[in-house]
Parts: sequence; structure tokens; C-alpha cells
Amino acid sequence: MKIGILGAGVVGLTSAWWLAEAGHQVVLVDRHSGPAAEASAANGGQLSYAFVAPFASPAMLRKLPGMLLGGDDAVRVSPDFELIGWGLRFLRACTGAEVDRTVAAQLALAASSRAELALLMQEVPLDFGLRTAGKLVLFRDAGEFATARQMDAQVEQQALSPQECLALEPGLRIKARELVGGVYTPSEQVGDCAAFCGQLFARLQNHSNVELRMGTSITKPELTRGRLTAIETDTGRIEAERFVVSFGAGSKAFARACGVSLPIYPMKGHSITVPGDALSHSVTDHSRKIVFAPLSGATRIAGFADFKGVDRGLDPSRIAELRAASAGTIGEGADGDVAPWAGLRPQTPDSRPIIGPSPVDGLYLNTGQGGLGWTLACGSARLLTDLIDGKPPSCPAQPFSVKRFS
Ligand SMILES: Cc1cc2nc3c(=O)[nH]c(=O)nc-3n(C[C@H](O)[C@H](O)[C@H](O)COP(=O)(O)OP(=O)(O)OC[C@H]3O[C@@H](n4cnc5c(N)ncnc54)[C@H](O)[C@@H]3O)c2cc1C
Repeated sequence: MKIGILGAGVVGLTSAWWLAEAGHQVVLVDRHSGPAAEASAANGGQLSYAFVAPFASPAMLRKLPGMLLGGDDAVRVSPDFELIGWGLRFLRACTGAEVDRTVAAQLALAASSRAELALLMQEVPLDFGLRTAGKLVLFRDAGEFATARQMDAQVEQQALSPQECLALEPGLRIKARELVGGVYTPSEQVGDCAAFCGQLFARLQNHSNVELRMGTSITKPELTRGRLTAIETDTGRIEAERFVVSFGAGSKAFARACGVSLPIYPMKGHSITVPGDALSHSVTDHSRKIVFAPLSGATRIAGFADFKGVDRGLDPSRIAELRAASAGTIGEGADGDVAPWAGLRPQTPDSRPIIGPSPVDGLYLNTGQGGLGWTLACGSARLLTDLIDGKPPSCPAQPFSVKRFS
């Protein structure tokens, strides 16, 4: 079958690979000349298979009024019309039952993603600094630490005292008295998402089932009797039997033009990259929502959740905050070039991606991976391929269906 994959971020690239390997003729289309030019370019680098808790939760509900009034340094909100509709769905997702549903679904998808990445690496060894570095999540708040400890049973994890955290990761410059404790997960991995995308893209260039249409902006869908049959682009028309929208934060606009409503909001984050091997483990400062990942001779520091619509520009105040956090945590990054970057996470209200068929014939969805797109990409591509091929899905598909929003 001829399938158009719309978007060459990590989700579109993996979709293209898995579908091409399944025997489909794939056309991969993106407006940039190279892969991973947007949200997949300089993300946090954590392959976070065990930490999949959604953004919406009962605890978040309690914090929300303070957040909206600017009382949380990690989250900034500039309300707009799009955010109001998304926000109402977000409030509905802030229940314990919904959190449990999301965690169960995401753990299954994450486990599949890890297994699929391992299989891919056996077939085509890619060099992107993949390492089982283990992840240490640091807590500065006793209530948050107590909640995190309750989840220990799901994967192999250890609760650590502040002193044990600092002994485990000697690269940390934090004082023990600043922490209430930590949770260490030895099995968690790190890897450079952009390097992975670049290498997978190179393999796609040589794949006999793949046509690349880079530097091509998609202008509008072409629907024939309610079915998506072609797309119009600035370099000509492209026909296919199926299309998969993987436009990240841009998915909503394209889906809307097809008549499909997707509750995806661009949740902006920033990163800096500091040279040197400061850390041997990946570290998350849970209270400050900042992650640190050791990536082949550098440390990636990423974080924040800014709700400001489609704004891809760098915010100098966020970069200054990341520099300060980096200096305080690993003793690096206060000055010098730190490759500042901003990206838009394609965030759904319940933090689960949207994978599978849409209400429009011919249009499939693989988008909305939010803050876990790097972690979930390979599993999402596998699930999408199973659904297109009508095979038993690699993990439960229903939690990721767009129908949950209707
Ligand atoms: C600060 C930050 C830190 C993060 N840290 C982590 C982490 O540690 N671990 C993790 O798992 N995830 C992390 N993420 C999330 C992850 O980066 C994203 O979920 C993932 O990159 C989304 O990939 P995507 O392919 O869906 O979107 P993108 O990478 O944004 O790709 C979408 C593509 O669609 C193309 N496109 C859009 N519209 C059009 C059009 N009209 N015509 C042609 N092309 C178009 C764009 O050019 C782009 O290339 C982080 C994100 C951010 C912002």
C-alpha cells in the first residue's frame, strides 16, 4: 500500500521505517530539508520507560490555581482560546482513575517501545549514545516523594535518602539538605534523539520502499467523497492510499483542515547542552521539572512547560533559568556557549498519544506524544503499523484511540 507520512520528526521517521519494513511504499514529507528540525532536535534525551505519569493528576488540580497566578516557576500560562477547550479536557483528566488508566497504557506502550528499539538496533546498529545509565529522580518536597515511593512496585526502583542520592551520583553539586530523597531506577536509558533521527533518516534514504520529499510544505488536504486521497504541497500534489499525520504540535491544524478535531496543545520547553561528562546517570529534578541527561561527552539540561500558543522563539529568561539550574546542580553552564534551544511538545489533555485511524477514511494519526515522544516513538510506530495492517496490536490500542475525545 502507498502511505504518506506527514512529518519527519522522531515519530514520523519511526513510522516511515516500521511501515517500509512491513512492505509498504512510503512517502515521507517534511517542510525542512533535514530530519528532526523541530521538537525532536534537542529534547531531554531521556528514554523514560518507567516514569510515564501524566501531566494531569489530582495533585496538579490542587496546584493549578497557584500555577495560573504565576506561583510555579516551571509552568507559565498565557490563556488563549485554544487553551480553554484543551484545559476543560485537562481538568477532566485530573482524576485518580484517569491517571491509573494512563499509567497502565503508557507503561505497556513504553515497554513495547523499548523492545522495538532493541530489535531495531540488532538489525541496523545506530550510534546515538544509547546507554542504560539509570535514572535518579530527586525530590525537594516530602509529599511528592511520598507519592513517588508508592509507585515503586511497578518496576525495579530504590528509594534513597539525600545522602544516598549524592553518593550514587557524585557529579551532583546539590547540598543534601536541599533534598528530601530520591528514587533510582537502574533500567532507564538515555540517547540523543537528533542523532538517532539523523541516522534513521540516512537508512530511509537508501530504503527501496521509501521516497523522501523533504523541503516540502503541505498546504492542504484533498478530500474526495469524504476520503483523504491526496495532499497539496508547495512542490506538487502527492497521492496515497493512506496518510499518517505526525506533525507534532502542528498536527492539530492539518487534522482540522481534514475535519478532525485533535486536542493537542503546544507545550513549550527549553534546553541547553553543556560540554563535558558531569554526570554518569540521568537525573530529574522533580520539583523544578528539569532533566539532566549524559549524552556522549555532553550534558543536556531541559525543562519547563510554557503554554503560550504556537511560539517557537527562544525565551532568554528560560535559558537563564536553565543556566542557573545547571550551575547549581552540576557546577557547569553558568557561562560559555550552551546551544540554547526551544521546542513544542504536542501535548494531549491526558498525556496519551493519539495512534490509529481517524474518523476520516484514509487518515491515520500518530501524534500527541507530548513530553515522551522520544521514549514512545518506536512503540508508537509498531502500534500504528499493526493497526494499518489489521494485525493484533503489540499493546492495547484502545487507550490511544482518538475516539476517547468524542
Ligand atoms: C524541552 C523538551 C524536552 C523533552 N524531553 C524529552 C525526553 O527527555 N524524553 C522524551 O521521550 N521526550 C522528550 N520530549 C518530547 C519529544 O521531544 C517530542 O514528543 C517529540 O520530539 C515529538 O516528535 P514528533 O515527531 O511528533 O514532532 P516533531 O519533532 O515536532 O516533528 C514534526 C515535524 O512535522 C513537520 N511539519 C509540521 N507541519 C508541517 C507542514 N504543514 N508541512 C510539512 N511539514 C510539517 C515539522 O517540520 C517537523 O519536522 C521533550 C520535548 C521538549 C520540547
